[in-house]
Amino acid sequence: MLEDKNQQRTSLSQLGEFGLIDHLTKNFEVKQPSTLKSIGDDAAVLDFKDKKVVISTDLLIEGVHFDLAYMPLRHLGYKAVVVNLSDIAAMNAKPTQITVSIAVSNRFPLEALEELFDGITLASKAYNIDVIGGDTTSSQKGLIISITAVGEANESDIVYRNGAKQTDLLVVSGDLGSAYMGLQVLEREKQVFQVNPNNQPDLDNYTYLIERQLKPEARTDIRELLEKLEVKPTSMIDISDGLSSEIIHICKQSKVGCNLFEEKLPVDPQLINVCEEFNIDSTTVAINGGEDYELLFTIAIEDYDKIKANPNLTVIGHMTQESEGIHLITRANTKIPLKARGWNALEE
Ligand SMILES: [Mg+2]
Repeated sequence: MLEDKNQQRTSLSQLGEFGLIDHLTKNFEVKQPSTLKSIGDDAAVLDFKDKKVVISTDLLIEGVHFDLAYMPLRHLGYKAVVVNLSDIAAMNAKPTQITVSIAVSNRFPLEALEELFDGITLASKAYNIDVIGGDTTSSQKGLIISITAVGEANESDIVYRNGAKQTDLLVVSGDLGSAYMGLQVLEREKQVFQVNPNNQPDLDNYTYLIERQLKPEARTDIRELLEKLEVKPTSMIDISDGLSSEIIHICKQSKVGCNLFEEKLPVDPQLINVCEEFNIDSTTVAINGGEDYELLFTIAIEDYDKIKANPNLTVIGHMTQESEGIHLITRANTKIPLKARGWNALEE
């Protein structure tokens, strides 16, 4: 649906593995003082001095995690980096380096990998991180990308999932559910396209949702914002699988309960319109839709005044004693137990 039919195709076998790595990595510059040795030796060398190091890794498989019918390779490269940086941000750490490993089948020409690496380069510039290594190999079928992200933090600044207290407030950055509805729009257009390849999709009414799906951003800005507001979260997680499942992770690990308020959920007006069009309940999408890559965290109730006026942050609930359970309080004031459905559960 987004393929350029006239593109040049250079076979990967023409370059060989080392030629390919040289070609794909030639634009990576070292920006971080902690990177002592980047690509070019058997291993990279990092020096974080008195900081702690956080590491997170992620594997993306074509046909399972992404669909190249509507995911341009440049966006895929960008997103593959961002989802890893989001995990570093969720530890309240600053991302500094990544490694990138890919396996590709021979159906991908060099030009396709150049696009993928353009997206990776763009993200590494946007987030000021170094690409310090990786691996390239062939796959029997499809594209596989594995990225490992490294970050740094003072030990006292790191935030875990298990620190929420029963009187804390639950806060989320940004808005919820848009990435999921963006995916629904793209899936629908793909089906229209398969029936009639001449049908050019008109996506003007869906730009925000599609951008949230195809080009998400990691909230690395929230660490700096909270530092400025002099607020340290008591627990934190990023929203990859969906709000409800992330709330349950925090509650289980912190041994607390939670009341989440439907009327407080931050959703974009475009999400409400498109949910009406698709006849889906926007609260269900906000709670269970995944891939928002926003940060969900708890703060001490004394810190409420410091964050209440900030447009980036919304208080959506409060923690309780563990024995009270985990509930959604609806607009009609009914109490519904929250289930960890994740975004896959919506695909029915
Ligand atoms: Mg995570």
